[in-house]
Amino acid sequence: MEWKNRADAVIIGGGILGIATAYYLAKMGMRDVVILERGTVCCGSTGRCGAGIRAQWGTEMNCRLAIATIGIFEHLEDELGMSIGLNQCGYLLVAYSAQELANLRSYMKLQNELGIESRTVSLDEAREICPALDAGDAEGFTYHARDGHADPFLTTYAFLEAAKGMGVVCHRKTECTGIRIKYDAAVGVSTSKGDIDAGIVINCAGGYASQVAAMAGVDLPNWGERHEIMITEPVEPGICPPMLMSFSGNYYIQQRPHGSIICGMSPAGHHHSAECGTTWQFITRMSRVLNRLLPATRDIRVVRHWSGLYDMTPDGSPIIGETDVKNFYHSTGYSGHGFMLAPIAGKILAQHLTGTQPDIDFSPLDYRRFARGELITEPNIT
Ligand SMILES: Cc1cc2nc3c(=O)[nH]c(=O)nc-3n(C[C@H](O)[C@H](O)[C@H](O)COP(=O)(O)OP(=O)(O)OC[C@H]3O[C@@H](n4cnc5c(N)ncnc54)[C@H](O)[C@@H]3O)c2cc1C
Repeated sequence: MEWKNRADAVIIGGGILGIATAYYLAKMGMRDVVILERGTVCCGSTGRCGAGIRAQWGTEMNCRLAIATIGIFEHLEDELGMSIGLNQCGYLLVAYSAQELANLRSYMKLQNELGIESRTVSLDEAREICPALDAGDAEGFTYHARDGHADPFLTTYAFLEAAKGMGVVCHRKTECTGIRIKYDAAVGVSTSKGDIDAGIVINCAGGYASQVAAMAGVDLPNWGERHEIMITEPVEPGICPPMLMSFSGNYYIQQRPHGSIICGMSPAGHHHSAECGTTWQFITRMSRVLNRLLPATRDIRVVRHWSGLYDMTPDGSPIIGETDVKNFYHSTGYSGHGFMLAPIAGKILAQHLTGTQPDIDFSPLDYRRFARGELITEPNIT
């Protein structure tokens, strides 16, 4: 691939955030956009995720971002001209105590005020939505029909192909090794294949975002957290159409169209990690939860088990925007929900960088909010 020494924007990271951002920058008229990926496209968290998409959040910011991103997902196949595997099967949230149900109801009120049509459902209706569900111990449920999931590989490649069609260049196996700075402003990057001068540098390095930020002396509060996930052999399709999720129960479970079940839970202890890897403890704990909720899965086998990094922030909300180093931007810290937010996050950052009013004011997601003590603490995460 031709190597150019100069670009309007260089994006570090070939996951869905970097690639969606590149797509929107090109679409909004930026000419030379270059993506640097040290491995292969989707080798990071994007290719390892559950790819769930939901609007049932507990902060106004995440609700606004999520309902806007769902609106984009709903038209993305037409826009990009490729399949993204979107399945709007809804998210069924399960509460196990009166307090948890009261919390879900109060977030639902906020969601409804913002145009998200989430609602509470009875146990009988929950069983209609999810025929194999055994949740007699649940206190209650909320449901939003426009939630669902998509295929993370198809979605990312659809963005990439459309971006390439507009001139975006993606250099795989190319590591960003330094951010070049002049007079407190980023002026380009050093890479394993040579330098590139750039008007703008954007950090979309997912679980490695704080290492990339440190190349410019920027101290992001992000950390990587390893999350395991597994997939079973197929069972009868349609036993669990929605994404089943519980914050206190610590699980998310979805059935793929061909019948396999993908499920995950958060790690005990939430330790910081830069490494992926798998444990028997996860399979044991996860299988027990799965078998209890969906007894029809009791005799099936796990066919694959892997892990990836959540790119965490102290308040569970992303960091989008410029830092003290001018022209050095970040779109990071998605804390386990970056797949779903990537379309809207890419769009609003590109709008800002091309001089258009962003659809959503993302200035509260500035990284200086931590120093100011203005956290946007998201309660609806495990
Ligand atoms: C098990 C699991 C389940 C998840 N489930 C969901 C879900 O249901 N819904 C949801 O919305 N999100 C989910 N997520 C989170 C989601 O995967 C991430 O938020 C999202 O993929 C982040 O995308 P990204 O592009 O920022 O990061 P990544 O996909 O990790 O991409 C970053 C890329 O940067 C590259 N990179 C790093 N450093 C450098 C460098 N110096 N030079 C060049 N390249 C570099 C890496 O190789 C990597 O490919 C899940 C994550 C995991 C691990």
